[in-house]
Amino acid sequence: MRCRYCMPREHFDGHEFLSREEILTYEELAFVVESLVPLGLQKIRLTGGEPLLRRDVCDFIKMLPKELDLAMTTNGLLLEKFAVELAESGLDRVTVSLDALDVETFQAMGDTKETPETVLRGIEAARLAGLKVKVNAVIRAGYNEHSVEKIAERFIGTDVIVRYIEFMDVGETNSWDNGEVITGEMMRSMLENLSPIEPNHIGEVANRYKRGTQEIGFIESVSKPFCGDCNRARISADGSLYTCLFASKGNDLKSMLRMGANKSQIADAVRNIWSKRDDAYSETRGKFSSEKVEMSFIGG
Ligand code: SAM
Repeated sequence: MRCRYCMPREHFDGHEFLSREEILTYEELAFVVESLVPLGLQKIRLTGGEPLLRRDVCDFIKMLPKELDLAMTTNGLLLEKFAVELAESGLDRVTVSLDALDVETFQAMGDTKETPETVLRGIEAARLAGLKVKVNAVIRAGYNEHSVEKIAERFIGTDVIVRYIEFMDVGETNSWDNGEVITGEMMRSMLENLSPIEPNHIGEVANRYKRGTQEIGFIESVSKPFCGDCNRARISADGSLYTCLFASKGNDLKSMLRMGANKSQIADAVRNIWSKRDDAYSETRGKFSSEKVEMSFIGG
C-alpha cells in the first residue's frame, strides 16, 4: 500500500530502506522497553510502516513484558495469516486501518491493488483469535466521506470499535490541505443516534460515543488538539525517541545502547528528555516552520 495521505508513491517508491545495522535489533528494543517499565510505562504499540512486514515480529512480541498492554496498528493485509500467532505471542489488541468498504475508494485512498475483503478477513481472524479489535478510518474530503456511515454500519453487532481520524498534516509529503479535513463534528453529523461517553483514561486520543451497543471514537487532532494530555513517546526503527508525532527531530538512544548503557541510564535519559518536552504542535500549527518527520518513520 502507498496510502495517499501517508506514503504517497511519488515520494516513497524507490526510497532507500535503512540497512540492518542501522535499525535496532529486537533485543535492543526489548531492552529499551524493560528500562522504561519503572518509569510507569503501561502500553506499547507496534506500528510503522507496516509492522507485519518485519520478519519474525511475533518473536519480538514474545520478548516484551506481559504486564504491559501490547497493541499493534496494521493495514491488515497479512493479519489473517498472523492473527493466531500474534495472540499466542502475547499481543492483546490490534488496530486495523480501513478507510473504505468499496473497492474503488479503498484502492484510491491506499494507492493499492489490494481489496477491503482481505482486510475484513484479517479483522475476523483477529477476533476469532481473541484479540480486541479497533478499526481506524481516516476520512479525507473528496475521497471517502461516504464511508463514514458504511463503516460504522458494517461493524454493528460486533465488538469492533470504529475510530474516525481527521486527515492530519503529519510529515511533509502528503499534500495536506485544511480544505480536505473532515472534522469530527462533520463526521458526527453523518451518523445518527450518537451519545458521548467518558474517556477511559487521561490521554485517551479518541473522543468516545455510543451508538446503540456500538462504540465509536473520533480522533480530532486538527479541530480539537489534545497536546496537553498527550502521554505518547515514539521510538523509530533506528532508535530515536520522538516526543511528538509532528516533531522534526528525535533523541538518539541507539548510540547510548551501543556504548553499553544499562537500564537505569536509559531510563534517566528518557526521563530527562520527557520532562523537558514542550511540544504542542497541534495547538501551535500556524507558527511551526521546521520540517516534520514522516509518520511512516515514527509510527502513527
Ligand atoms: N501500516 C500500518 C497501518 O496502515 O495502520 C501502521 C502505520 S499507519 C502510519 C498508522 C495509522 O496512521 C493508520 O491508521 C493510518 O491511517 C494513520 N494515518 C497515516 N497518515 C495519516 C494522516 N495524514 N492523517 C491521519 N491519520 C493518518
